[in-house]
Amino acid sequence: LSCTGCKKKDFVYHRKYSGEKYCKKCFCTSIEKKIARTVSKHQMLSSTDLIVVGLSGGKDSVVLTHLLAQMEKKFPNSKLITVTIDEGIKNYREETIEIVKKITQDWNIENKIYSFKKEFGYSIDDINQIILEKKLDLLPCSFCGVFRRKLLNQAARDLEADKLAIGFNLDDEAQTILMNFIRGDLSRMARIAPKPKKISPKFVPRIRPLREIPEKEIALYAFYKSLPMQSKECPYAFNSLRHNVQSSINLLEEKTPNVKFNILKNLHTINELFQDSEIKSIKNLHDCEKCGEPTSSTLCKACELISILE
Ligand code: SF4
Ligand SMILES: [Zn+2]
Ligand SMILES: [Zn+2]
Repeated sequence: LSCTGCKKKDFVYHRKYSGEKYCKKCFCTSIEKKIARTVSKHQMLSSTDLIVVGLSGGKDSVVLTHLLAQMEKKFPNSKLITVTIDEGIKNYREETIEIVKKITQDWNIENKIYSFKKEFGYSIDDINQIILEKKLDLLPCSFCGVFRRKLLNQAARDLEADKLAIGFNLDDEAQTILMNFIRGDLSRMARIAPKPKKISPKFVPRIRPLREIPEKEIALYAFYKSLPMQSKECPYAFNSLRHNVQSSINLLEEKTPNVKFNILKNLHTINELFQDSEIKSIKNLHDCEKCGEPTSSTLCKACELISILE
């Protein structure tokens, strides 16, 4: 009954996909090592990076901030700043902003808050109202994802960040891959790469150090380390495509424990096949006519979505 790591204590966690059994301490060490390995394997960070972390207050971003803060201490020439996006979702975002304030004060990390309402003129609650009034065939999440992506990039760029770190775990990664496949967005799927790339001077390269850790293990790590976490789920989460894809993958996983890793691994295989292909290239990036952010169309996705609301 002993731990695979220290061989002394009883195990508390059985990692089914690899067979290891860990005590609390060895489990936490295994997560830290795995993330450090992901970071170095894909050259996600360099020793002088200014890293902006998207800190929402959810378990993933809290764990990511905690681990990057530890790593950053070893590199005196690197710096960490957290950015929080306030989407304007009543009875949900208030709690996480409190958590973010507490964490960043306790850990002595700078935090900046950017709001949808201020930057785009609409909160997600406003958008939900308009969707209902105009009977639009869209979900608040479609706006939220696009706006968040854009605003995080703008924030990271304003702060002159070298990297933008996002708390995407293995489950998120597998869901995104399948969602792109379902939507037929093969070029976006082909561009999901672990190694940060600079595709335009206006885009800050994004890194996802948690991409090889299942969501369940992130939650357990946060619990063992007593990290503060939000308790509520976003009221709009239940309708989304992501939510349906998530339920399907979790159902599959009951019979096939490796399904999430397989999706990620198979994506890498496909990406290698696409190596020099047209599908992977981002052609003709130019400035959005309305906001000036890089896009391959006349308007960027955020401005296109805003025009539907007006
Ligand atoms: S569930 Fe949808 S609306 Fe809520 S925070 Fe996530 S993307 Fe935004
Ligand atoms: Zn142990
Ligand atoms: Zn635009």
